[in-house]
Amino acid sequence: MRVALISDVHANLVALEAVVADAEGRGAEAIWNMGDTVGYGPDPNGVVARLAEAGAVSVLGNHDAAATGVIGTEWFNSLAAEAAEWTRAHLEPETAATLAGLGEVAREGEWSLAHGTLRQPLWEYLITEEAAAGHFEMQETPYSAVGHTHVPLLVRRGTAGVEGETPVAGEGAELGEGPLCVNPGSVGQPRDGDPRSSYALVDTGAGTVTHHRVAYDIGETQRRMEEAGLPRALAERLRFGR
Ligand code: ZN
Repeated sequence: MRVALISDVHANLVALEAVVADAEGRGAEAIWNMGDTVGYGPDPNGVVARLAEAGAVSVLGNHDAAATGVIGTEWFNSLAAEAAEWTRAHLEPETAATLAGLGEVAREGEWSLAHGTLRQPLWEYLITEEAAAGHFEMQETPYSAVGHTHVPLLVRRGTAGVEGETPVAGEGAELGEGPLCVNPGSVGQPRDGDPRSSYALVDTGAGTVTHHRVAYDIGETQRRMEEAGLPRALAERLRFGR
């Protein structure tokens, strides 16, 4: 089976449509989404509806929790807080109910899914050896996937400790026996200097994971953000992938 791993869509429907089309073109039969489905972008309702239509499995991200009022925005920077308040004010009841029903961790076969880390799903960034070690400590499946950093990454725990690797788009990596953790990068707001959407495709039969980059109409998303009255700086950063 082929599964598209996606994360941090951030209400960017134009980007999500491009990624879904690319993944389906590569034979993806399922979508697993590591959260921050909303926040920052102009189409929270459209994104949640599109993922429901695709039958995606999703977990809760910190921006999703802020959008439904489960957590406050005091830990967000001012632009993120402004966008979170805009999102909360524009959620349709059905979207709010869907987000409110999300769990912090999901398990799909040999995979565990969380937004930040399995140790601290909403907030922890899997960017240090210590965070990775804590994450693997909680991982009961061979493989896991996280998001939150908006930067694609592969992390393995071997005999020599934890090793991170920046995936090369289009080049498959072996899943191996694990433990392995995959960060597919961000669909809606990449932050690794490449403005194209990022996701990863797992092929369970071949035992591989391949990261992909997909160009989308950034100008259209920026236009929608301006129309919505979202902070200009959030629209501008999309052009730079920062
Ligand atoms: Zn995010």
